[in-house]
Amino acid sequence: MLSKFDYVKPQTLSEALNYLEQNASTRILAGGTDLMIILHRNVETPEHILDIKGILETKLLEYKKNEGLFIGASVTVNQVAESKSILEKYPALVQAANSLASYQLRNRATVVGNICNASPGADLAGPLMVYDAKILIASVKGTRIVDINSFFLGVKKTVLKASELVIGVFLPDVSDGDNSTFLKQTRLKGHDLGIVGVTARMTADKKIRLAMSAVSTTPIRLYQLEETLSSQPLTSELAVMAGKEVRNIIKPISDVRSSADYRYHVSEVLVKRALQHLSSMGGE
Ligand SMILES: Cc1cc2nc3c(=O)[nH]c(=O)nc-3n(C[C@H](O)[C@H](O)[C@H](O)COP(=O)(O)OP(=O)(O)OC[C@H]3O[C@@H](n4cnc5c(N)ncnc54)[C@H](O)[C@@H]3O)c2cc1C
Repeated sequence: MLSKFDYVKPQTLSEALNYLEQNASTRILAGGTDLMIILHRNVETPEHILDIKGILETKLLEYKKNEGLFIGASVTVNQVAESKSILEKYPALVQAANSLASYQLRNRATVVGNICNASPGADLAGPLMVYDAKILIASVKGTRIVDINSFFLGVKKTVLKASELVIGVFLPDVSDGDNSTFLKQTRLKGHDLGIVGVTARMTADKKIRLAMSAVSTTPIRLYQLEETLSSQPLTSELAVMAGKEVRNIIKPISDVRSSADYRYHVSEVLVKRALQHLSSMGGE
């Protein structure tokens, strides 16, 4: 049974921020696909629930050439999954969005909710990380911007303070010739978090960006390996080497979805495949 709470759905950002400032025990509600489970299980019993979906700024989904892509905090995963212009510019993001749960769930779930929930296995974290997305955070004190690569602090932990909400996330524009891919292994098709997620990006000037989910306490960027891969032509052999090297970087655990051993194996395979894909698209 759900515990009792006040439910508010402000129509302006300032209303929402004042409410957050005045009510410390508030949880923010976007699609609710993570939050409602926590509430149903009484894992948390907040006194206040603030629904952000009435706030205009959070509904914006806009791509501007030479600037980039803004995804407001109320934008659903399906809105991104179905966007042709986002697919063209940020393919890994659309691939990851399409892999998240089921169509029905994606109609509710938001991109920003996925990262604010801070699951180590969050599907959209990797794509946002390889594009160096910036998170626009607001409180009554003003706004601040945090790079997504500094956003996650641990399992279900982020840099967000109780009085803050995320307005949206911004991805800088990419040049022609930039490419990326997202690969994920799951136990079941749909309705499940990934056992391992890999996002690989090759920029127009052949620099490699690599991120992984479900192999550490947070989604991770593999900066050192990126440097090695970016300093030479991306060949199929180099992709094999990178797959093996990943085993020395990740720290997967055994849980209900997979043993750590299997995660090591899948990580090696998926990193190799993702890089070989980029290589076949013009890396060599
Ligand atoms: C059956 C099922 C299958 C799933 N499969 C997948 C999957 O395959 N891959 C995957 O990655 N996830 C999966 N999920 C998890 C979930 O659907 C996603 O994480 C989703 O993107 C969360 O978005 P939401 O809008 O529903 O977030 P909510 O549940 O509304 O919020 C999630 C958390 O973020 C906080 N939050 C939300 N918006 C903001 C904001 N603007 N500012 C600050 N804090 C905020 C909330 O307070 C809450 O703590 C699954 C969930 C279910 C129930």
